[in-house]
Amino acid sequence: MKRRSFLQLTGLAGLAAGVPSAAALGAAPEHEAKAATPGKAAASQKPASPETILLKDYRPKSIFKIPITEVAKARYPVIDMHSHPYAKTPQQVDEWVRNMDEVGVAKTVILTMSTGAAFDDIQRKYGKYPERFEMWCGFDLTGYDKPGFGPGTMKELERCKQVGARGVGEIHGKGQGLRSGKSSAPGMHPDDARMDAIWEKCGELGMPISLHVADPIWMYQKMDRFNDGLMNAFYWRLDNQPNIVDLSGMIDILERTLARHRNTTFVACHFANLDYDLARLGEVLERNPNLYADISARYAETAPIPRFAAQFYEKHADRLVYGTDMGFDKPMYHITFRILESLDEHFYEIEQFSYHWSLNGLGLNDAVLKQVYHDNAAKLLASRGQRA
Ligand SMILES: [Zn+2]
Repeated sequence: MKRRSFLQLTGLAGLAAGVPSAAALGAAPEHEAKAATPGKAAASQKPASPETILLKDYRPKSIFKIPITEVAKARYPVIDMHSHPYAKTPQQVDEWVRNMDEVGVAKTVILTMSTGAAFDDIQRKYGKYPERFEMWCGFDLTGYDKPGFGPGTMKELERCKQVGARGVGEIHGKGQGLRSGKSSAPGMHPDDARMDAIWEKCGELGMPISLHVADPIWMYQKMDRFNDGLMNAFYWRLDNQPNIVDLSGMIDILERTLARHRNTTFVACHFANLDYDLARLGEVLERNPNLYADISARYAETAPIPRFAAQFYEKHADRLVYGTDMGFDKPMYHITFRILESLDEHFYEIEQFSYHWSLNGLGLNDAVLKQVYHDNAAKLLASRGQRA
């Protein structure tokens, strides 16, 4: 799934509605402006030039005659630690499994964010392939603002575990409070005392938590010509949100949560959104042995800095786990493998990621790839069996 269609599907792209799709724009011929019919906006009648081409329409093609690496199958069997119930019909579930076979994904963790009947439905839908998918449930945060909150949430957690949930996620804490799918708790952050017993319970039950804290740094910055990630930042903007804890504040909250619950394992989604400051993420990982980070949906964000990113992967190879978070089509998997495995330079995947910049492969070595694709996740998932 392309990022832009993902935005539209999730209904998060209010501003994207009415904007022509990137694909449609990409398909327009270069001399589109010349062919413009009378009655179109004056701007479109000017010949194409840097004055008239909008950043959102920019589709440069690499001029370099250099090797292109096609990675149709991952070098090692993959455990995808970050996906969602994208397949809606039994046929789509079958198709997903065929795609996983072809690209080399052994198992996919489906972060349902759901509880109750909604969780049970998803569990049933994927029940045909218990070895290929595992379901993680959400939290029911109902009553978070009333006395007596906690036991009800934990009871539903135990029930979900009984019907098959193996972990919890994706739980969001983007700065305004916790959210689990449709259930939300404005103002209650992960380190809130009201959450203490619940995180502890997850540890007791051997259920790791996939926790999404903050969002990319560009979304908190001014939406102007200096914003490096403007194309995505604008759609997911947070700079206009009142009463929001900023990115750095959310990392502090994450660390306080981790320190208080050492018997509970957390997976920070998307490099904890510290892909722009991997050195800080390294420190957070070093201070907190109960933390892993997934690399999902941050490929285009790390591919611009291939050398620094590869060094980071090497240094923390035992704590990073593969994830996608972008649907289940084969080209999507191929792009992630190309970025992790190849040393290709200056290639574009604008339709997939919606950034205007070019990407580079990280060229991770075999040992690192094996850990990130598979071994770390396998260890994390196996450690659950030793508890409750
Ligand atoms: Zn996700």
